[in-house]
Amino acid sequence: MHVLSKAGTICRLFAVGAFVRDSLIAGNWKMNGTRSSAAALARGLAAAVSGSVRCDVVICPPLVFLQEVAECLAGSDVALGAQNVDHRTEGAVTGEVTAGMVKEFGCSYVLVGHSERRSLFHESDEVVAEKALAVLASEMTPIVCVGETLAQRQAGVTSRVIGDQVRAVMAAMTPVAFAGCIIAYEPIWAIGTGETATPEMAQAVHSDIRCMIAEQDAETAQGIRILYGGSVKADNASGLLAQSDIDGALVGGASLKQDEFVAICEAAGV
Ligand code: PEP
Repeated sequence: MHVLSKAGTICRLFAVGAFVRDSLIAGNWKMNGTRSSAAALARGLAAAVSGSVRCDVVICPPLVFLQEVAECLAGSDVALGAQNVDHRTEGAVTGEVTAGMVKEFGCSYVLVGHSERRSLFHESDEVVAEKALAVLASEMTPIVCVGETLAQRQAGVTSRVIGDQVRAVMAAMTPVAFAGCIIAYEPIWAIGTGETATPEMAQAVHSDIRCMIAEQDAETAQGIRILYGGSVKADNASGLLAQSDIDGALVGGASLKQDEFVAICEAAGV
C-alpha cells in the first residue's frame, strides 16, 4: 500500500492485516486525588475492567500513590504507569525520580513528553528522547506524547512540528528500541478543553506519523501503536477508535470517572 504523507513523501506500508495492533487505553490522572480516592478508583477499575474488556488498559496515578494503586491493581488486567521520570539514573536531582524507581513499584509504562511537561517544565525534544531511552533501559514502555498548539495548526505547520518531535526520539535510539515505544498524538488545543479533533483530523495526523516512521522502517511503522489524546470521552471514543491508524487513547479528565473510563475501554474492545 502506498500512502502520500502530508510532507509530500510517498511511503510504502505493508498491507494492513499482516499486523495486529492491540488497542491501549491509558488514563492520565495528572495531579488529582487523594490517597483514598486513588485507591477507590483503582479498585473500582480493576473490578470493572478485568476479564471483560478486550484492550490493554493502564492507569498513571500521581507518583506518591503508586504503591497504594499497585496494591489495588494486583492480579487485575489493569497495568500501572507513571506520568513522568527523570532521564538520569541517580544523583543530586532534588525532587525527581528515576525510571528504575517507578519500575520497582510495578510500573510497566511511563508517559514522556506530555505537553504539560514540555510547556511547564521546558522539556525539549532531546530531553524527551532521553527520557524515552531511560524508560526502555528499565524495561518499561514509554508513551511518547507529541502535539501541536492551535497557533501551529492554524499556521499549517502541524506536520513539521509533529515530525520534529517524533524524529528526535527516533534519532536518539536504534530502530529496534524505537519499536518498543508507543506514540500518543495529543493536539494541545484539545487537551482539557472539551475540544476534540474530529476522527478524520486525528486519523490524518496518525497516518502522517506512521508515514514518517515508515521512511525509516516500514515494519516498525505498521507495528507501533499510536494513541490519540485530547478530551476523549465516552461519547466520542468510538468514532476516534474506529480510525485505522488510531490504536487507542490517552485519557485525562475522563479517566478520573470510573464509568466514563470503562466506557472508553469498552469502545476500544469492540
Ligand atoms: C491528557 O492529559 O493527556 C489529556 C488528553 O487530557 P484530557 O483527556 O483531559 O484532554
